[in-house]
Amino acid sequence: MADSALLEIENLNAFYGSFQALFGVALGVRAGETLAVIGANSAGKSTLMKAIVGLVQTRGAAIRFRAENIVALETQDIVRKGIALVPEGRRLFRSLSVEENLQAGGQMQRKGPWSLSTIYSLFPILREKRAQPSISLSGGQQQMVAIGRALMANPDLLLIDELSLGLAPIVIRDIYAALPRVTAQGTSAIIVEQDTTQALAVADRVYCLRGGRVTLEGTPTSLSRDAISSAYFGV
Ligand code: ATP
Repeated sequence: MADSALLEIENLNAFYGSFQALFGVALGVRAGETLAVIGANSAGKSTLMKAIVGLVQTRGAAIRFRAENIVALETQDIVRKGIALVPEGRRLFRSLSVEENLQAGGQMQRKGPWSLSTIYSLFPILREKRAQPSISLSGGQQQMVAIGRALMANPDLLLIDELSLGLAPIVIRDIYAALPRVTAQGTSAIIVEQDTTQALAVADRVYCLRGGRVTLEGTPTSLSRDAISSAYFGV
């Protein structure tokens, strides 16, 4: 991979006890790049995100972030180095207000463009709802809070697991419309999606996972619909 590699993963094998969920996964993200990771249920997408931030047991892997192997680090140290995860299901503090949730993400704040005011400019509805408990927001608005909370750490790499799962189409469109403003700040992103259309529209490159293995990698324009279907479904 080129000198501008931000994240480089080699030979990632991930396990839940004796169950192996990822097999020899290799993946790279360059600085400023947006990557889509697609795949059906149980393909291993969430496991890949969790492995990057040290939440899953791995074996034999190298996960280099700015050329430093972070594979043995604690999650909080990985966040400090500049990787933030928006987990599947958002995992907000339900009874805390929108603003308190955002502030929680800022506890390990690095220097960078993101603060309460820049996040409120990115998602103006959150400014209006800032004093409300997060549980009172719609799913899409909660996803905005989760993304804002991750951005408060000022990551160089933002991981979003299942960005659009269960959300209304209009809010999915709003969140995708905001993403270029995030990457314009120099933040790279990995977006995990089951619904590939939106992800392919914003991604510079795409990886497909099936059965814990990478089945396809390329630029959205270079991959035919048939190649994507076959990598996704295995038909
Ligand atoms: P989904 O979209 O359904 O979340 P995914 O592509 O994110 O799918 P993973 O959640 O990474 O898939 O799961 C990959 C495999 O690991 C699946 O077979 C799943 O059952 C298994 N798995 C995931 N989490 C655990 C866990 N905590 N304990 C045991 N097995 C798990």
